[in-house]
Amino acid sequence: MTLYSRTVADAEPYVPGEQPKGIRIKLNQNESPYPPCPGVKAVLETINYEDFRLYPDTGAYELRAAIAETLGVSHDMIFAGGGSDEILSFAFMAFFNGGDRVYYPDITYGYYRVLAKLFGLEPREIPLDAGFRINVDDYLNADGHIVFANPNAPTGIALTAGEIEPLLAANPDRLFISDEAYVHFSDGKGCESLLNKYKNLLIVRTYSKSYAMAGMRIGYALGDPKLINILDRVKDSFNPYNFDRVSLAAGIAAVRGTDYLRDISERTAKTRNETREALRRQDFEVFPSETNFLFIRKRGIGGDFLYRQLNSAGILVRHFNKPRISEFIRVSMGTPEEMGEFVKAIGGIAR
Ligand SMILES: *Cc1c(COP(=O)(O)O)cnc(C)c1O
Repeated sequence: MTLYSRTVADAEPYVPGEQPKGIRIKLNQNESPYPPCPGVKAVLETINYEDFRLYPDTGAYELRAAIAETLGVSHDMIFAGGGSDEILSFAFMAFFNGGDRVYYPDITYGYYRVLAKLFGLEPREIPLDAGFRINVDDYLNADGHIVFANPNAPTGIALTAGEIEPLLAANPDRLFISDEAYVHFSDGKGCESLLNKYKNLLIVRTYSKSYAMAGMRIGYALGDPKLINILDRVKDSFNPYNFDRVSLAAGIAAVRGTDYLRDISERTAKTRNETREALRRQDFEVFPSETNFLFIRKRGIGGDFLYRQLNSAGILVRHFNKPRISEFIRVSMGTPEEMGEFVKAIGGIAR
C-alpha cells in the first residue's frame, strides 16, 4: 500500500498559463478581450440565490437543447461539460482502454498527453510536417485513437473538413476527436458537415475562447447519439451534477447570442490579420492563423528572450520551452489598442 494511487504516480499534470498580478496586457491564455454577450448579464440579474439550495438539472437538458437548436442538430447529439477539458477527460475515460495507443501531433494542445498519461494509454506523437501542418496521411494507418485540435494550437493552422474526411473513412472503428476550441475564428463549422456520415467523429468545443467565457467553465461535444449516450454514462458515474445553476443559465443565454458571437469573433479575426501584417513588416515569421492567437518567431532570437523582454514591458505572452518551437512565442489577440502596443513593444525588442 502507498498513500497515493498508481494512477497519480505516472501522471504528468497540465501546466496552465500564468496568472500573475501587475501585468498590463495579458496575452497568454487565449482569453477574449471582450465581455460575454449582453444576454448573459441580463440572465444573471434574474437568478435568485435562494434557488441554490436545490440541485441543478443533472442532464443539463435545457442547455443542451439550446445548443442543439442553435446548431440545428437533434438534442441527443449534444453533450455538455465543464469546459472542453472536462469533456476530453470524460471522452478518454469513455472510449479508450488502458494500454491503447492514442495518436496526436508532437506540437498540439498539451492536455492530450496529460490525459494519455493519466489513463495509462500509450502516447504516439506524430511530428507536424516541415511547414508545421498536420499531415492527415500520417494518421491513416494509425492503430489507435486519434485526437487533435483543429485549428491546431499553438500553430493556429486549420485543416478543412474535406482534408479530415479520409481519416474518418479509413477506419470506422477508430474514434477521432476533433478539438474545435477555435472554430469560430475560422469557418465556424469545423467538421460539422461530416457528422451525419461518420459515427466515429466526436467534436469538442468550448465557451472559453470565442464566447469570452473562460471563467464560467462551459463546453460541449457533438456526435452520434450513441457516443453522446456513452459520455452521459461516464458523467453519471464520475460527476453527475457537473453543472451549477449559474453556468447553466449563462450557457443558455450565451449560445443564443449568435449575432454577438459572430461580431466579436470577426473583430478578433480582423485584429489578428492586422497584427500579422504588422509583424511581417518587421520580418517576423507568422503562421497563417485561423484562431485568436498568433505563433511567431524572428529567426536567431530566442522565444524565451522575447517572452522575458515583453514581460518587463508589462506584456504577458506564452513561451513553450520545447524542441522545434523554442524560438516561438504565442500571442493571444487583445483589443486593437493592446495589439498596437504589443507590435510597438516587440519592434523595440527584436530589432
Ligand atoms: C483552451 C483550449 C481547451 C480548453 O478549453 P476549456 O473549455 O477552457 O477547458 C481545449 N482545447 C484547446 C485546443 C484549447 O486551446
